[in-house]
Amino acid sequence: MNANMDLVPITDNKQHIMINLKALEIWFVTGSQHLYGEAVLQQVAAHSREIAESLNRDPRIPVTVVYKPTVKTPEEIYAICMEANAAPNCIGIVTWMHTFSPAKMWIRGLKALSRPICHLHTQYNRDIPWKEIDMDFMNLNQSAHGDREFGFMMSRMRINRKVITGHWQDIGVLQELGAWARAAAGWHDWQGARLVRFGDNMRYVAVTDGDKVEAESQFGFSVNTHGIGDLVAMIRDIPDKAVTALVKEYADSYRITSSLLKDPALKDAARIELGLKAFLEAGRYKGFSDTFEDLHGMVQLPGISVQRLMKAGYGFAGEGDWKTAALVRAMKVMGSGLPGGSSFMEDYTYHFDPANPMVLGSHMLEICESIADGQPSCEKHPLGIGGKADPVRLIFNSAAGPAINASLVDMGHRFRLLVNEVEAVTPPADLPRLPVARVLWEPWPDMKTGCTAWILAGGAHHTCYSQQLTADHLEDFADIAGIELARIDKHTNLRQFRNELRWNDACY
Ligand code: MN
Repeated sequence: MNANMDLVPITDNKQHIMINLKALEIWFVTGSQHLYGEAVLQQVAAHSREIAESLNRDPRIPVTVVYKPTVKTPEEIYAICMEANAAPNCIGIVTWMHTFSPAKMWIRGLKALSRPICHLHTQYNRDIPWKEIDMDFMNLNQSAHGDREFGFMMSRMRINRKVITGHWQDIGVLQELGAWARAAAGWHDWQGARLVRFGDNMRYVAVTDGDKVEAESQFGFSVNTHGIGDLVAMIRDIPDKAVTALVKEYADSYRITSSLLKDPALKDAARIELGLKAFLEAGRYKGFSDTFEDLHGMVQLPGISVQRLMKAGYGFAGEGDWKTAALVRAMKVMGSGLPGGSSFMEDYTYHFDPANPMVLGSHMLEICESIADGQPSCEKHPLGIGGKADPVRLIFNSAAGPAINASLVDMGHRFRLLVNEVEAVTPPADLPRLPVARVLWEPWPDMKTGCTAWILAGGAHHTCYSQQLTADHLEDFADIAGIELARIDKHTNLRQFRNELRWNDACY
């Protein structure tokens, strides 16, 4: 089975590949029981269908919402959970108890369910119909207590789930459900996902390393290594005609000098991109990593190729950092269709001006084109490490505005997801001698607290930087994954944050 089958690549009018979240489904499952008689159950079914169809039409919910018939017995509940587990496109279920649904009926089904679950604590009517309300109305609209019975069982069984409270047409509820659906899509994408590492991780580096066996067991994606020679062979076999066509695409897409257009280095870069793409497609990989310490047979370190492949939806991180590569992929899936982009990133250097402190984020080359503000410039410059020919890269600034940095850390016996909300700013000056793409931001709640908290949590220098997602998306994602989320945001207080880390150590 093709690992990408569940995510159908479609091409938008800008000719880059997006991930089609509408191909994925969340199932709307309403709980009830036989106590009330057929007429009430018909009402329950009609209301549930109306809610599911309304959620499905809402642009804030990026996936398909599928109405499922009301479940009224332990057998029906077990059957729908098993059906969800087996359905390749079902990424999660949304439950709601329109009436009372005695929760012992749910035990066997919930025990078997392997899909993420969201409990929508809503009610068909927004308002109490003051003049008409009678015991028939009360009999039908019981979610205020029916959902509590269900919630008890979920808590008793210690099942991680999202709980969303409010009327189903409320914009806040729709936003929360949309965010959870995106997190579930990212999680679904990881299950069975394949990542390839060309070479090992950078020598002696700690934070980018980790337990690949434990990661596969916890997260569902596998990471396997290929010697750089396997990739070099594919790069070498790319036909000249394809290289010429891609060079023309570079010329059409970017600011580029006529001397670089004639430079053989540009053809070398295009050939690397085509070879990498062919390798990833042949191996059905969703992400990759390389390292400047293992480039035998490569003409230059992949620069522009990686920047463009990330934009096409592949996860990537440098120096063998497979954890960040996997995270970049998941965050691209979660952010699909939202404005802005998501990229591999590294906190590079600081501006410690007390009046205007900020972090300059960048990498040697590999910042995703999706976060470019305006048309990138395609240039060739020397690279101090790696000992190869000068690599071609895209250079650009990134737009000002809210963003997040996220890092997946291997704590030895468990994983931690660390998120910092940041505010990106417009560079206060030109950086004429800096030959790489870059972003400037100030971390929340402030430079000093944000950076201190990050260091205390053991966050990596490598991150996924996203303009598309918020910390809320990653909180849902960590919950689904069953791992700790350490969150640094506007409300972070260092003393409290240190305590949270200590308590989480005990909890996880
Ligand atoms: Mn790095």
